[in-house]
Amino acid sequence: MPPPIPSRAPRGTPLYVHLPFCAAKCHYCDFFSVADEGQDLEGMIDAILAEAHVRAPHAPRTVFLGGGTPSLLPIPLLRRLLDGLEQVTAFRDHAVEVTAECNPESLDGEKARALLDLGVGRLSIGLQSLDDDILRLFGRVHDAAMGLCAYEAARDAGAPNVNVDMIHSAPGLPTRTWREHLRRILDLEPDHLSAYTLTFEEQTRFRTWLEQGRIERQAEEVELLQFAITREACSAAGLEAYEISNHARPGRECRHNLVYWHGEPYVGIGPSAASKLGHQRMGNLRAIPAYLGAIERSGTAIDWLEELSPVRRLAETWWLGLRLSEGVDPARARASAGFEGAGEDPALAEAERLVERGHLERVGERYRLTPRGLPVADAVARTFLTRLH
Ligand code: SF4
Repeated sequence: MPPPIPSRAPRGTPLYVHLPFCAAKCHYCDFFSVADEGQDLEGMIDAILAEAHVRAPHAPRTVFLGGGTPSLLPIPLLRRLLDGLEQVTAFRDHAVEVTAECNPESLDGEKARALLDLGVGRLSIGLQSLDDDILRLFGRVHDAAMGLCAYEAARDAGAPNVNVDMIHSAPGLPTRTWREHLRRILDLEPDHLSAYTLTFEEQTRFRTWLEQGRIERQAEEVELLQFAITREACSAAGLEAYEISNHARPGRECRHNLVYWHGEPYVGIGPSAASKLGHQRMGNLRAIPAYLGAIERSGTAIDWLEELSPVRRLAETWWLGLRLSEGVDPARARASAGFEGAGEDPALAEAERLVERGHLERVGERYRLTPRGLPVADAVARTFLTRLH
């Protein structure tokens, strides 16, 4: 039996819109996206708007167009999408942050201006590297010069809030080169910098190449060094790390992504998009024909839905919250997970165990990662998921 259709989310709930098309599939990427060639972009926009009519909240606090590559859409389709979302949600008068993910091959001055005119205030540009060999290895369809041009085009168009996405610890990338690239990026004065450690996810070409010995992962100490250099350089440039991989000028933290890390509710529309509402999490069909067919039949395309138990909600609140520099307040975690009254707090015992190991520290009411815990943050935070039942 298909999962029940969820009711419309409360007014103000943040909205994520997944646009599943890219110019080509990057070799490290495990997000749901397909190459755009031969795809019915118009049909997808109409389907997403039909889903928005059924599920999108009114007056969302934040809107995030992700994917995929939203900037790949031609301007008339961006207009159709954003005007359509405006009709359904009135986001332009209410959202405090509207982000569109962009890639250099599809972001010029005209596109940037169009996005700004249509109500997008934050452009997030995927530069990933300033080394053309690494960009080719990544499977990116732009080179470093195009990346820098796209950034300039966004600023020249008047974009008030720009994020740059970069990836460190690429195979063979010397630390001195990463340091130099970082300096060049920070000299551009972005409002926000996301700098991720390269990962080798299941079902990616990079994972296969790693297993076949065609590429080599950087030594762990190099990954840790490039991670540490990134934090230091960003901090010196006035962009503090507020999350493991995310750095921002004060007040420019990504409000939408903070919703995820705080474990708050959100609605996702588009193929594969996940939502969290009340004590339920759900996700849309991924395959494009299946998504389009389901939307045509019922206006929704929910593929799976799970009820989160109180202890699972608590574990997830810690798992996500520990990614943030501010750490986790146990009482607030219980409240946001709806764990109150459900008995003794099992997360506290786990947090104390990690304090003893030197991975967490207690600062006032909060627990946060220590400098020793920070480089292994994923593993530390994940223990809340594996040990709390
Ligand atoms: S452009 Fe982004 S979403 Fe698309 S394949 Fe590359 S990394 Fe993935």
